Amino acid sequence: MTIYAADLKRMFDEIATAIEADKDRLCRLDGVIGDADHGIAMALGFGAVRDALASLDLSAVEPTALLNGAAKSFLNAVGASSGPLYATAFMRAAAAVKGKGTLTDAELIALFQAMAQGIKDRGKAEPGEKTMIDAWQPAAEAAGAAQAAGKTLSESLAAALAAAESGAEATKDMVATKGRSARLGERSLGHMDPGAASALTVIAAMTKALA
Ligand code: ADP
Ligand code: MG
Ligand code: MG
Repeated sequence: MTIYAADLKRMFDEIATAIEADKDRLCRLDGVIGDADHGIAMALGFGAVRDALASLDLSAVEPTALLNGAAKSFLNAVGASSGPLYATAFMRAAAAVKGKGTLTDAELIALFQAMAQGIKDRGKAEPGEKTMIDAWQPAAEAAGAAQAAGKTLSESLAAALAAAESGAEATKDMVATKGRSARLGERSLGHMDPGAASALTVIAAMTKALA
């Protein structure tokens, strides 16, 4: 299929709605091993993105400009660690599609993978450190593998979502070594990482919007 700037805007609207609905749960998860603001931070960030994109002329804007706008809005709205992490994800996504007026399925998967790599580069977290990377990295790998195996965009995103779900679930058995919850050490065991939980919500909304 062909993906237009309008589809990316719809995707961000879908994410903003899903995150808003998930805000309290994300704050509760962050309350257990962090400072209880993760839902607020994510809702502020994606709310700001939705507001910024609302005023765009979608017939004139290219995907790269839309994504850079999202990055800027997210960064300006969010003071928590998730701010620069997602802002970098959107900046990398923008760079991945530079110069393209519309995107193919493969380019959308490349955009998705660039997001995960951006979060990884910005936060320097490796899998197993109990962060959002434990959801994003397996999701990006699964999307890439499905795409390479000739699956449709919708199937590839479904594979990403399933991998993100297992990845987020697996953070319960991890000891945090990055971010605010690292100070809890062993006491972080048994609880899902809030950033991995919200990654799952984001990826589910992307899947719903683009499938
Ligand atoms: P803060 O901890 O500043 O309040 P948030 O509550 O918005 O920020 O986000 C917390 C989440 O950010 C964590 O649950 C974790 O998933 C993610 N995170 C923190 N540090 C890193 C990092 N270095 N790399 C990747 N993700 C990180
Ligand atoms: Mg927090
Ligand atoms: Mg905070």
